[in-house]
Amino acid sequence: MSSSYPFQRALVTGASSGIGEEMVHLLGRAGVAQVLVARRGDRLRELAGRYPNVEVIEADLTTAGDVARVEQRILDATTPIDLVINNAGFGTSGLFHELDVDRLEREVALNVVALTRLSHAALRVMMPRGRGYLLNVSSVAGFQSAPKLAVYAATKAFVTSFTESIAAEARPSGVKVSALCPGLTRTEFQSVSNSEAYAAQYPGFAWTTAQNVARDGLRGVAKGKTVVVSGLLYKGLVGAVGVTPHAVRRRLAAAIQRG
Ligand code: NAP
Repeated sequence: MSSSYPFQRALVTGASSGIGEEMVHLLGRAGVAQVLVARRGDRLRELAGRYPNVEVIEADLTTAGDVARVEQRILDATTPIDLVINNAGFGTSGLFHELDVDRLEREVALNVVALTRLSHAALRVMMPRGRGYLLNVSSVAGFQSAPKLAVYAATKAFVTSFTESIAAEARPSGVKVSALCPGLTRTEFQSVSNSEAYAAQYPGFAWTTAQNVARDGLRGVAKGKTVVVSGLLYKGLVGAVGVTPHAVRRRLAAAIQRG
């Protein structure tokens, strides 16, 4: 058992940058063994060299074969994994009908299909053991429609809803399942999703750091919180979403996107 977390071995997808990389540092410093997953193997190997007991799986989680390899690792009981973090994800900014539909399909494959399969593998091994943790990285974008980020917001609405459901299913077994919902966080996400210009409209106080998001996510799943919203501002906004009529929220979202 590590000193500051109840985890012994974590598997982190999207470990090569941003929020996932910060989770790797927090877990590594706490002495938790890890399995790092992403496409950029060079970055993963560099990170793995900094902490003891770190394995690397170079995988493109938009492909069925690579997802299957990661599922097998989660199911492998020889060195059991007790924390699975589905963090890998990306977005695509722009008018839906003008975007590359093959890229949007890959977005759904990563944010939804891979996350679902890896969650399935995690609960299959953890629930019979009566112990384990699953952390799915969603977004505050999932609470609200988002013109010009339509597919992304829809994938994150899936992640939050799906995770809340399986958290309730897993609870009686002792397995803890959480959805982590960050707001704007400075990472490679903005350049990958082509949302730098859109993100530039937001003032400094709207931004969270990847370190804080990673810390909140790990604390939240350790405590068994079903939905973890990172940052006071975003906790307030999500609270406001809950009490604002749906049609008003939809018009506000459209107005914000028109800039
Ligand atoms: P990031 O710095 O771009 O990190 C994304 C990670 O996902 C990278 O490690 C990337 O690694 C991995 N990844 C991307 N495509 C992949 C693929 N096909 N197969 C395997 N791994 C893949 O972005 P981030 O902000 O840390 O994002 C982490 C999570 O937070 C995402 O789920 C994102 O939707 C969510 N989020 C971010 C924000 C934000 O404002 N940044 C806000 C809310 C939620 P490789 O490129 O090496 O494969």
